[in-house]
Amino acid sequence: RAKDMGRNTFQFYQPEMNTSVGARLNLERRLRRALRDGEFLLHYQPQVDIKTGQIVGMEALVRWLDPEVGLVPPSAFIPVAEESGLIGPLSEWVLREACRQNKAWQDEGLPPARVSVNLSARQFQQRDIAKLVMSILEETGLEPQYLELELTESTIMRNAEEAVTMLAELHALGIGLAIDDFGTGYSSLSYLKRFPVDRLKIDRSFVSDIGASSDDETITSAIIALAHSLQLQVIAEGVETAAQLDFLKERACTEMQGYFFARPMPHDAIPALLQRAGTDGTRAADTVAH
Ligand code: C2E
Ligand code: MG
Ligand code: MG
Ligand code: MG
Repeated sequence: RAKDMGRNTFQFYQPEMNTSVGARLNLERRLRRALRDGEFLLHYQPQVDIKTGQIVGMEALVRWLDPEVGLVPPSAFIPVAEESGLIGPLSEWVLREACRQNKAWQDEGLPPARVSVNLSARQFQQRDIAKLVMSILEETGLEPQYLELELTESTIMRNAEEAVTMLAELHALGIGLAIDDFGTGYSSLSYLKRFPVDRLKIDRSFVSDIGASSDDETITSAIIALAHSLQLQVIAEGVETAAQLDFLKERACTEMQGYFFARPMPHDAIPALLQRAGTDGTRAADTVAH
């Protein structure tokens, strides 16, 4: 910034920068408190088998219930958590809570469904992440096939060689692996074949333009075809309309997630949804207000 002002300008006071550093430190302090006082919670968004309409999984999405502000979305605090090293303890809490909750639902006799947890780039770089996942599975008693980890394409491609090893370690635990926001990064196809992943998750930016942009329709179709030819499952995120769902169905996309079916919701709304979908096969879309 100072550079932009010209070489002879020496800036020793920048109120703008000052505020943002101050705000960041303040946020960091409040996040530390949030971790200590248990102010985080998880919302869950159902993932649905497109053919049968059954809920087959749900994505755990972290929220911060800040006593001063109310419910804060992850986009407002994950980046600072990443920069300040708080992402470690936060991710560990998310993972443990998601596994614990899922096991508790199964113990209540609800139809089992997998839970997907987002792993940040920082977290994925920790060499002992597989160990942590294993110990949390043991501790909570959740069977590994009911846990899936979502890693973004850019997280994986940041260090693709190392990612192959890390993914293999995680996969060996028996958990599922999905590439999140697929299509927004640039995976080489040769790597894609070497990554032991189970599922591609088509980024919402493509899905939301189905019906509006023929380029995005082409990309969506291509990702589905790619998944089929590599024998991967494929889920579309951000499905909001019946037209989008029809488009995906026609191209044999396996699963979908989005407001059209259900928004992310508090944990206590999930049992009724699972129960309903499990017992009479009713599509929850018919039972949930959009
Ligand atoms: P993501 O993993 O791609 O999650 C999907 C996001 O899209 C969620 O936003 C979800 O609420 C939103 N979404 C789902 N369906 C629709 C739809 O039909 N329309 C629209 N407009 N949006 C939809 P959310 O919960 O705000 O999360 C944003 C991002 O924050 C996530 O993107 C993920 O990258 C990150 N995140 C969330 N929870 C965690 C976490 O526990 N750990 C880490 N490391 N990152 C997380
Ligand atoms: Mg995700
Ligand atoms: Mg996503
Ligand atoms: Mg996304």
